[in-house]
Amino acid sequence: MATRMKILRTIADLYAWRSAQKEAHRPIALVPTMGALHEGHLSLIRRAKQEADAILVSIFVNPIQFGPKEDLDKYPRDFEGDCKKAESAGASAVFAPTPEEMYPEGFQTHVSVGPLSECLCGKSRPTHFGGVCTVVLKLFLASGCDIALFGQKDYQQYQVITRMVKDLHVPVKLISCPIVREADGLALSSRNTYLTADARKAALSLPRALDAVADAWSKGERNLKVLLQPVGDAIAKAGGRLDYAEIRTAEGLKEFGEKADCDAVLAAAAVFDGVRLIDNRLLRF
Ligand code: AMP
Repeated sequence: MATRMKILRTIADLYAWRSAQKEAHRPIALVPTMGALHEGHLSLIRRAKQEADAILVSIFVNPIQFGPKEDLDKYPRDFEGDCKKAESAGASAVFAPTPEEMYPEGFQTHVSVGPLSECLCGKSRPTHFGGVCTVVLKLFLASGCDIALFGQKDYQQYQVITRMVKDLHVPVKLISCPIVREADGLALSSRNTYLTADARKAALSLPRALDAVADAWSKGERNLKVLLQPVGDAIAKAGGRLDYAEIRTAEGLKEFGEKADCDAVLAAAAVFDGVRLIDNRLLRF
């Protein structure tokens, strides 16, 4: 019989839960989230069930990964709904600490990953990945997880965390899961709830522009300028503003010269009526 999902609020609760799993020799999989759970998050929880016995979902809107002018205060929150969704997808426990629990008075240790966190999203969000890595490492250490699952939606985040795990010899196996999309192609995101009907329509220009690039790539085009040139125009025509669209190496996010010559990732961010969305495509060589 399935046991009821546990709700853990403090690091002490988490340690106790972790000890019980270790004693029962149940491998732990962690799915870190900021809540407002949607099918993208749930796909990670379902995948985690295939990989481990004890599935921990963290729900924490991490203040240190938001810039001063970003949406920390209005970030969508629905804790009860999230718990129901997490449990039905197979979570064994939810860890939902307060900011004070995670960052008590006197907190002053931060993880910083180098150039990988400074490109793409890091240009307009210079403190973002430091905040992500700090919270993710804290969650890895406190949960004692064996495995952690992330979405390909946040492609750069996965690359940065992969680097951190290698560099700091963190004994956690990372798994990247496919992007879950709406029927029309828009990637699911908790931030989609901010979109007005008009902005929602305009936002479709982002996945469509990336599809067009992927299509040109599949026909053999490898010149970056030629591939990327139409993206900004397509998004501007729909009423959005492109933050960036770049093609970099799929592993390590290195810049190409004029032409791509190995597996690549096309990553982009654009703003629609004040809402910043990201998306990406893997381009196999
Ligand atoms: P967030 O709550 O936005 O911080 O996301 C938590 C995790 O869910 C991250 O690993 C994201 O990459 C992943 N995720 C978010 N949206 C999607 C999506 N549409 N498809 C797959 N994974 C997603």
